[in-house]
Amino acid sequence: MKIVVLKFGGTSVGTISKIKIVADIIAGYKRKKFSVIVVSSAMSGVTNELIKKSEAISGNFSDAEYDVLVSSGEQIACSLIAGRLIHLGYNARSWLAWQIPILTQGIHKNSRIYDINKKKIFNYLKKGGVPIITGFQGINENERVSTIGRGGSDASAILLAKFLKAQRCIIYTDVEGVYTTDPNKLSRARKIKEISYEEMLEMASLGAKVMQPVSIQDARLNRINIEVKSSFIKKPGTLITKRKNIINNKIITGISSTQNDSKVSLIGVKDKPGVAASIFKPLSKNSINVDMVVQNISANGKETDLTFTIKTEDLNKTKKIVKANKDIKFRKLLLKKNVSKISIIGVGMITTPGVTFRMFQTLAKNKINIQVISTSEIKISVLIDKKNTKKALIALHREFKLDD
Ligand code: ASP
Ligand code: MG
Repeated sequence: MKIVVLKFGGTSVGTISKIKIVADIIAGYKRKKFSVIVVSSAMSGVTNELIKKSEAISGNFSDAEYDVLVSSGEQIACSLIAGRLIHLGYNARSWLAWQIPILTQGIHKNSRIYDINKKKIFNYLKKGGVPIITGFQGINENERVSTIGRGGSDASAILLAKFLKAQRCIIYTDVEGVYTTDPNKLSRARKIKEISYEEMLEMASLGAKVMQPVSIQDARLNRINIEVKSSFIKKPGTLITKRKNIINNKIITGISSTQNDSKVSLIGVKDKPGVAASIFKPLSKNSINVDMVVQNISANGKETDLTFTIKTEDLNKTKKIVKANKDIKFRKLLLKKNVSKISIIGVGMITTPGVTFRMFQTLAKNKINIQVISTSEIKISVLIDKKNTKKALIALHREFKLDD
């Protein structure tokens, strides 16, 4: 049996006419003799509407009831897809996660799928049926409906591909694939043919909104090839796969930039063990996400400067928390809005010397000042003034031969 999992995102099933297109795509795979498993998200906007309703009913809406409510959007989409396939003469039916069941662990709103019972789905496939399965949901040990986090139907699809040993998992969405950089920011952005899980994970965490980061991690751990493509345009998308499968002569695969970052510097911090911990503990308690961090060596052994970046929406809260913190002493607090983090990503940099130098030189030639630097094995990030973002993207995109 050649099994393929097709996942449709909210925009792909956003209207009745789009759902009809989805049914045609599914029929295409059936004609090619695939056993097709379909996973669908809710029609676009529906999940958000349901969340609003929960908030209107109570400022303290039960998490268990939240899961029942917000998972209902997927039920609508799945029955419409199944209904259309039946209309076209196919053997199809919808499955809610609990009917399979798809088993989850963990807290409501943020559970994780740990097992999927294959039997019913497998039997149905053997009879030529097309199961249309609700993404984003499962059932927990208390037999309550659970959800697995916003954007979670990607993970549902990948884990179905894993448990049912599918040959491929195809994520249909409203973009044509993964791009070298955000095409809305740079018209020279190119669609990437193949990208490794590791690179994709970095790109997604940095804001490439093609897929949910945890689902990429699930795919990586289970070695599942994913193709991301558009449900509106018939063109090959991007293949996300393991490094070994990729023949790529480029050193850098993609470049990302952030918006709405701010920089916080504590000048003259008393240098002793535990200071960094006491600065970041109350921030993490308040769910403030700290991104880049640099601490200078203290020249005199007594004082040091510490800089970190956060989202600008957290700036006021951060300022208050740092000022109220009695465990740390510092001379000055500097806050700077409108900074942007530019990252170049590529597994090629592991084996190629001089990438860091080329990045810095390119920025220097364009008179762009670097404020903070951070690196990982496959990523180099720099913090620059936000007004230079476009200039930096253009220059780096060209320098690392992503234009062509
Ligand atoms: N419908 C859910 C959401 O909007 C799940 C998904 O889209 O994957 O978060
Ligand atoms: Mg979605």
